[in-house]
Amino acid sequence: MIYSHSRLQTYQNCPFRFKLRYLDHIKRAEAEGIEAFVGKRVHEVLQKLYEEAWLTKTNTLGDLMNYYDLLWKENWHDNITIVRRKYNKEHYYQFGRKCVENYFQRYQPFDQAVTIGTEMAVNFDLDEAGKYKITGYIDRVAHLDGIYEAHDYKTGASLPSQQSLDTDRQLAFYQIAIQERWPEAKEVRLIWHYLAFDLDLVSKRGHAELEQLKTNTITLINTIEAAKEFPAIESGLCNWCEYPDLCPKRKHFYIVENLGEKDYFKDRGVDLANKYAQLTVEKEKIGEKIKVIKEQIVQYARKENIEIIKGNDHQVRVKITPRLKFPDQETLERAALDKLLQDEGKWLEVSDLNTALLSKTCKQNSWDGALLDKIREFTAEEETVSVYLSPLDEYEKD
Ligand code: SF4
Repeated sequence: MIYSHSRLQTYQNCPFRFKLRYLDHIKRAEAEGIEAFVGKRVHEVLQKLYEEAWLTKTNTLGDLMNYYDLLWKENWHDNITIVRRKYNKEHYYQFGRKCVENYFQRYQPFDQAVTIGTEMAVNFDLDEAGKYKITGYIDRVAHLDGIYEAHDYKTGASLPSQQSLDTDRQLAFYQIAIQERWPEAKEVRLIWHYLAFDLDLVSKRGHAELEQLKTNTITLINTIEAAKEFPAIESGLCNWCEYPDLCPKRKHFYIVENLGEKDYFKDRGVDLANKYAQLTVEKEKIGEKIKVIKEQIVQYARKENIEIIKGNDHQVRVKITPRLKFPDQETLERAALDKLLQDEGKWLEVSDLNTALLSKTCKQNSWDGALLDKIREFTAEEETVSVYLSPLDEYEKD
């Protein structure tokens, strides 16, 4: 497989989505989030701006806005989803216009450097043998006085930190591609245009950093290619995922989303989740009440010097036993205690096998395979079933 930053990122965010998209090749082209839709239109407008400027045709801001409107109308379709329900189509439409206008006002007459490509396809190898291949598209490449620039237009609604940009993989890939294609480049600058904020952020990478990036990426690709399991990892990105109907984490959301009110409340899953939530909340309230009464019982028992308190149908025993408290794990004191017991040869008399840690070691295959095989002979397959309750995000509520 040829990899791109976006493929690698998909695996890192959710291996299950990666599998559906790139290994099972399940196509869901029709679904599109409005953020991606706006981003594409803004990119197309800026592409036209630079391509035509190169041919000496100057676009006014009005020309660009008309082109944006045309693209918006021509490309709009009914399967565009708006996840953030407090915003509507008009908000996003105006947001895209703002991005274009900010860029236009900041950069006209667009002659800061010589553009040598827009939406430029790049391909390169991470290793000399050509086994690990990377591909991508650079929004715009420009140069001036031997300094090359990789430009990336961002229409996101949040700004990253400089630290995250200095370790960003995507534009560093582009730097590798530019240096391979134009070895005479004196320097490569990586530039992100955060259009909605009217702000440019810049990063540079040295040779050592790029070599480290190649090594890390090869390791990641090896991990992907050796993967046998592709867990679904839930995150904020699930709201924009094209596979909710196939994903065990989001399937029920998908199923109930289009049910009418009557069918929604008749749904077995909704009914069970509601009952479980209601009982859990009641249990927590009762737990708080029990805690308060328990404290009062202990106070009463101490004050009256009583060990058994009689009620109507039950008695309550109060047992107060002194105990030794040892230092907590992962403290210096605990390490010193561990060492003392080991030095005195008493460790095995008071220690016990940590089976949770051993289970984790078996799952991660982090010991020698032959030893793990011997350990596995002592194990049996069982299941741990956990049921957790957590609140829905605001836009997931009905
Ligand atoms: S919905 Fe979320 S967890 Fe499921 S495949 Fe998509 S990104 Fe992964």
